[in-house]
Amino acid sequence: MKDCLFCNIIKGDIPSAKIFEDEDVYAFSDIRPQAKVHILVVSKAHVADMAHSGALTDKQLSACLRACVRVARECGVEESGYRVVNNCGEDARQTVGHIHFHVLGGERLSERMG
Ligand code: AMP
Ligand code: ZN
Repeated sequence: MKDCLFCNIIKGDIPSAKIFEDEDVYAFSDIRPQAKVHILVVSKAHVADMAHSGALTDKQLSACLRACVRVARECGVEESGYRVVNNCGEDARQTVGHIHFHVLGGERLSERMG
């Protein structure tokens, strides 16, 4: 989608610190990290959010979660633990309207989930 930040990052038109890529997902470092490890796993197919994830194939959607596991391993937090977060919509404070998952870890995270 033309004016979508994450579509432009996936295309390479906006620079990013790539961690992992396959045919379904693109993963890169969050520009404003909220933990020592903070990676974004983004579906290459543009859908706005989880509420619209029915438009993804099962393969595309499961690829996102499998990539979270892989990224956690590659970033060294598989053993210590990590959190996978998806913000969907306004109350969740989603700021980029392209489905993505945050992988957070590398330190003791807050007891609160939100
Ligand atoms: P959300 O608030 O769940 O929509 O998450 C969007 C995330 O994208 C935030 O954590 C931002 O820090 C991050 N972000 C915004 N612009 C960029 C960018 N150019 N490169 C990397 N991360 C970004
Ligand atoms: Zn997009």
